[in-house]
Amino acid sequence: MPRIAVIEKEKCINGKGCSFICGNVCPVNRSGKECITLGQDNKPVINEELCIGCGICPKRCPAGCISIINLPSELEQPIHRYGKNGFSLYNLPIPIFGKVVGILGRNGIGKSTALKILAGQIMPNFGGEKEASYDELIDFFKGSEAQLFFEKVNKGEIKISFKPQQVDLIAKTQKGKVRDLLKKVDEKNKLDEIAKELEIDKILDNNVENVSGGELQRIAIAACVLRDANLYIFDEPSSYLDIKQRIRVSKFIRGLANESTAVVVVEHDLIILDYMTDLIHIMYGKEGCYGVVSGVKATKAGINVYLEGYLKQENIRFRDKAISFPPKPPVIERVGEELVSWKGIEKDLDSFVLKAREGSVFKKEIIGVLGENGIGKTTFVKILAGILKADKGELNKKIKVSYKPQYIVAESDALVREILKDSVEKYITELIKPLEISKLLDKQLNQLSGGELQRVAIAACLSRDADLYLLDEPSAYLDVEQRLAVSKIIRELMENWGKTALVVDHDLLFVDHLSQKLMVFEGEPAKAGNALGPFSMEEGMNLFLKDLELSMRRDKESNRPRINKPGSQMDRKQKEEGKLYYI
Ligand code: ADP
Ligand code: ADP
Ligand code: MG
Ligand code: MG
Repeated sequence: MPRIAVIEKEKCINGKGCSFICGNVCPVNRSGKECITLGQDNKPVINEELCIGCGICPKRCPAGCISIINLPSELEQPIHRYGKNGFSLYNLPIPIFGKVVGILGRNGIGKSTALKILAGQIMPNFGGEKEASYDELIDFFKGSEAQLFFEKVNKGEIKISFKPQQVDLIAKTQKGKVRDLLKKVDEKNKLDEIAKELEIDKILDNNVENVSGGELQRIAIAACVLRDANLYIFDEPSSYLDIKQRIRVSKFIRGLANESTAVVVVEHDLIILDYMTDLIHIMYGKEGCYGVVSGVKATKAGINVYLEGYLKQENIRFRDKAISFPPKPPVIERVGEELVSWKGIEKDLDSFVLKAREGSVFKKEIIGVLGENGIGKTTFVKILAGILKADKGELNKKIKVSYKPQYIVAESDALVREILKDSVEKYITELIKPLEISKLLDKQLNQLSGGELQRVAIAACLSRDADLYLLDEPSAYLDVEQRLAVSKIIRELMENWGKTALVVDHDLLFVDHLSQKLMVFEGEPAKAGNALGPFSMEEGMNLFLKDLELSMRRDKESNRPRINKPGSQMDRKQKEEGKLYYI
């Protein structure tokens, strides 16, 4: 069995509270051989040939940075490894002309690495020191689709355009007007057309450093497709976008694939991934240590396999429980005590005005909130949280509120352990374990990644004592697995505690999985917003989907929500009956 030793060096504290414990406890070292040594950077290096897999060093390491992993025998040779004791990637996703191929997997499992290899940004090393040549790659993949792909790349027949994951870097590295930035890459001479399709035509004369996250994402997508290529690669194109924009971008990306053009995309929004792709690869392994790309599957079946948590062909179980959805929308029978009510609320913010006519929130409910970017969702939540005061109207609220803002500020160098003092002690099984926060406890707040910070903020919010929990966009930066874990946590806690949550989000599957009622915001972004509801799920979804001109159904096998193909029999039937969802 091949064995790898992975050291997450950024976590290692040798010399700062640890005196080379791993090396001192290693039985191979004790027998006089050099299995674990110190490298030039004063961090340990593990010799994988000498390691006997005894499991002592990972157990004793105070920073939890060592993993010794026995791999299935077919994983003899990685396609790429980030240096000695670094992350290993096995196999690659393969683009197919005429198709959109998706990749589904956890954060830190090697999705971006795989895309960078396809895009030619990383030349793989097969786990060794040396970069492979195209001839070696072709040889490595002999007899597979990948062989044909790299042959074409080698002959210069494939021209690649790549949208990276981190669009915020664009605003940091580029200056000047959006139009000038896009002009530089406009090989198709279609700037105006594509800007219009992606709805960034109105911001072409803005400066790149002033645009919002959602605008930046669409600028990056536009820059990618303006290049004349036959392989387009998108790393997480839906981040920062609202549902309307996600649907628009999905249609647009779908439309790129034709006989001579292939598309590959990494996406965490399952409904969008389902809608956008024909085929998917699932990636599994251990985050930060190794990742394996599964064989390609039809999207519908592949997503169900993913929810199931078990890859039949590979005989790999990557989650101990299947993720399930209730077949019918939840119905709240018993009405609890009223916690908050509002009537005729108005809030004026320079050029934007929010109105909320009438509504109430009861004890023991979970309310999902849907609506476009810039329509006033955050403003409304802030009014409920007591951070903003309405200009007009009544708000009856005599309860305690705990609030997780949309934008989390993490300038403090306090340790996560200090921030989460209460929940570390009280909610180990409810919050710390399922949100995988144990390994973050000794990190500083300002050193956390987006997804880590999000999980800490969610834990902090839920661990405070309150009657109403307000969570603004908790799925941002989280992978599919974490999104579903968060929705399960919120549901179970509210049920057990008899408390209420109101959750704003753009991931429709997350909202469907979580909510018992729905609020829908309508209006014109940046000008006027109307807060409607809370409605029953059915009524709310009907209202919301009508505006999107979409209908949805539940998958027969997994009960997960899916978007009907526009114009399909189901779509036409549901629209005729006015039942856009939950039939
Ligand atoms: P994903 O996109 O699935 O979140 P990535 O491909 O970005 O995952 O990263 C997979 C693993 O590889 C992570 O643990 C990351 O720390 C590591 N990694 C990524 N880039 C590098 C690099 N340049 N050097 C060393 N390790 C890296
Ligand atoms: P959402 O959360 O639905 O994206 P927000 O409530 O954040 O929307 O914002 C609604 C609109 O109000 C946006 O156009 C935003 O630019 C504007 N806005 C928000 N806060 C302020 C403020 N403090 N001053 C002026 N305008 C604001
Ligand atoms: Mg990535
Ligand atoms: Mg908001």
